Order: sequence, then C-alpha cells, then structure tokens
Amino acid sequence: MNAFGRAVKELLWPPRCILCRRLPETGAERLCPGCRAGLPEPFSGPRRGSGYGRWAAALWYEGRLRESFHRFKFGGCGFYAEIYGPWLAEAVRKQLGTDFDLLTYVPISPLRRRRRGFDQSLLLAREAGKALGMEPVRTLKKRNLVKPQSRTLGPQARQKNVRGAFRVTDPDLVRGRRLLLIDDVLTSGATVSEASRVLRAAGARSVDVAVLAAAPK
Ligand SMILES: [Zn+2]
Repeated sequence: MNAFGRAVKELLWPPRCILCRRLPETGAERLCPGCRAGLPEPFSGPRRGSGYGRWAAALWYEGRLRESFHRFKFGGCGFYAEIYGPWLAEAVRKQLGTDFDLLTYVPISPLRRRRRGFDQSLLLAREAGKALGMEPVRTLKKRNLVKPQSRTLGPQARQKNVRGAFRVTDPDLVRGRRLLLIDDVLTSGATVSEASRVLRAAGARSVDVAVLAAAPK
C-alpha cells in the first residue's frame, strides 16, 4: 500500500488502542499512554501441571487483555501479534533468560488452522522470536478434533481432553536440546504439560514455557 492508500485507510479506520479501543490523540500508536503505563511487569508463579521447568507470562488473562486477545484470535486482528510479541519476549528475558537451543510453540490442529486461517501461537512465537533473535521451529503436531481447552472445565477434564493430542514431528529436532515453548494462554497448565511430556519423551533436555497471558488461578 502506498502513502496515499495508508492515509485513506487511517482516515476510514483509524488505529485504536489494542487494549481499551480508544482513538489515539496523536499519531498511529497502537497502545495508548494509559494502557502502556498500566502494563504489568512480566511474572511467573507456582507450576501448573507438570513435565516442564519454569513458566513466564507477560500479562494476566483478564479484563481488557482478554477482550483484546479475543479480537486477535477471532476478530480479524491478527496484527496484534506485532504488539504482543515483544511483550512476550520481555517476559522470556526477565523471567527465563535466553539460554535456549530452540524456540518452538504449541500448535493448533490442521483442521482448526484451516478454518481460522492462522495459528495464533505461531504468530506470537514469530513476533517474540524477532525480539529474541530466534526463528520458531515447528516440533509438534496436534490431532484434529480435540475439543478446545477453553470449553473444557476443571483441571482433570482438561488433562484428559488433551491426553495424546500431540505428536513430535521429528525427534532429531528436539533431542538433547533446551526448548522454549510458546503458548498463548496458560490456565490449568494441562496443554503445556502434555506438549512438554511428548517433547521430553522424544529426548528434549528441558522445556520452559512462555505465554502471552496467564489466567488468574
Ligand atoms: Zn488504551
């Protein structure tokens, strides 16, 4: 798109703050000063689930972030990844360090990817990876027809739902390596536990987890 096209587009659809949806007073900032000032420091907490090492999150999965994330995932706002990605990278740097051999992610199933048109965790991993100087590598494959964890209630039901959901694409990719595993939202930890379990079974030396947002317990 040329400069004129961009100007017309911004006139018709002015960029709004990705969290509060307010129009910026000046420029084309995607995050208003108020929301920027309210961003938390990256954090961690007690492990949820098992099979992996540490976890880190950029934000709590609640309020405006939750609504923003829904627009990202279901509302055609895939470009939010460009803003979320650096937040995720910051959480990695501050909570987990950068001593990893491989950046990977928890994929959605091929069927869901076809329907949605993109894989949100891959987008996040790609944008976080730019800030970390790492290219995400696909190491997992998800079975079709696994019910979404967001529609499965309770830690035990979530654990059961996701059991056997992943396969390692190529054990040679992960054997002996320290992995940084990206997912979008951490809730009970069942999904990242299962993903880590198969990665460790395939020979990964360690798996640490970074998510955009963690649901309050
Ligand atoms: Zn805002």
